Amino acid sequence: MNKKTIKDIDVYDKKVLVRVDFNVPVIDGKITDDNRIVEALPTINYLLEKGAAVILMSHLGRPEGKFDPKYSLKVVANRLQELLPKTNVIMANDVVGKDAKNKAKNLKMGEVLLLENLRFDAREEENDKEFCKQLADLAEVYVNDAFGTSHRKHSSTYGVAKLLPNAIGFLIEKELNIIVGTINNPKRPFVGILGGSKVKDKIGIIDSLLDSVDTLIIGGGMAYTFLYALGYKIGKSLLDETNIEEAKKLMQKADEKGVKFLLPIDFIETSSIDDTLNYKLTKDQNIDDNLMGVDIGKKTIKLFTKAIKKAKTVIWNGPVGVFEKKEFAVGTYSIAKALTKVKGTTIIGGGDSASAVINMGLANKMTHISTGGGASLKLFEGKILPGVDVIDNI
Ligand code: AMP
Repeated sequence: MNKKTIKDIDVYDKKVLVRVDFNVPVIDGKITDDNRIVEALPTINYLLEKGAAVILMSHLGRPEGKFDPKYSLKVVANRLQELLPKTNVIMANDVVGKDAKNKAKNLKMGEVLLLENLRFDAREEENDKEFCKQLADLAEVYVNDAFGTSHRKHSSTYGVAKLLPNAIGFLIEKELNIIVGTINNPKRPFVGILGGSKVKDKIGIIDSLLDSVDTLIIGGGMAYTFLYALGYKIGKSLLDETNIEEAKKLMQKADEKGVKFLLPIDFIETSSIDDTLNYKLTKDQNIDDNLMGVDIGKKTIKLFTKAIKKAKTVIWNGPVGVFEKKEFAVGTYSIAKALTKVKGTTIIGGGDSASAVINMGLANKMTHISTGGGASLKLFEGKILPGVDVIDNI
């Protein structure tokens, strides 16, 4: 990689503004998964050890440009203080206002300041020049370690980097090395698994994965558009009518490239995603009229598991069923289990599939669970992340 990392810059006696991804799940005022905070610690600790003062900034949820106590980062500051017991962790009551400016000015080397939720200011998502300057004025060096947000061209992930000496942190470096390194040089057979609901979001990824994988497994709501394109009956299942032709083209490309394109061959069908009482297994690849497919069936689990177990490299993004309902989570959990049997590299591309793996207690059986769903999908697609692109080359 040719981008500057924090090891390439001088931070001694400097105030370093670090974009982290502390967008953690908070339920009833409690953090239910602090992984993203824990993953930011190596960068924070390194900067503190090298004699810097650290100013952290992040978003949390979607407060839509205005202050909303529900999305305050105070709960994160408290957790961070627990994780850094020897360090003084200070919380600012605003983003670039009086309090943040004051606390940044008075911050001592070895201390940590966390700014309030960046998205309390609408200018964050607009990559606004003035807002970028106000952020940059707080510090002398900028570090991006927010992998989960680095596919966004926002003030804190993009614009501010242009105003200060800059580098990427250890988390972004690790994610790039593992994901890009694996995709560019996979051990074969290389299997990609894509699920989730929206075909339109994944067309680009399918198209580029077809250039590198040996087998592509499609599950979840997006499988039905492909099945419909092949002439199967899909009942009330999800259908992306605008992408039926695209689905045909992708399957043709798979054929031409000699890539095995695996679609489900049986399903769990029910009347709606909320009907968890009257579901049944289909006999074949067709869904009854007035019913919808909500999970893959037993034969499909066998088919997919067989392909996965033979792989030397697997990348996975997206559940293969409505896994939020335990009745329709069997397929997704079976995929997760199959991945633990792979003798090779397994990469989970964040989001729902990461939650499924973590909920099953299988996290330590995977090579890598990415902290960013959208960002890792962009890497699967072979794209460069704006928040990395903007960082100076070595
Ligand atoms: P995405 O945001 O595109 O990654 O989709 C994730 C969502 O897809 C999850 O909330 C799943 O419940 C949903 N999903 C997976 N399979 C199906 C299905 N067969 N029908 C409807 N939704 C599904």
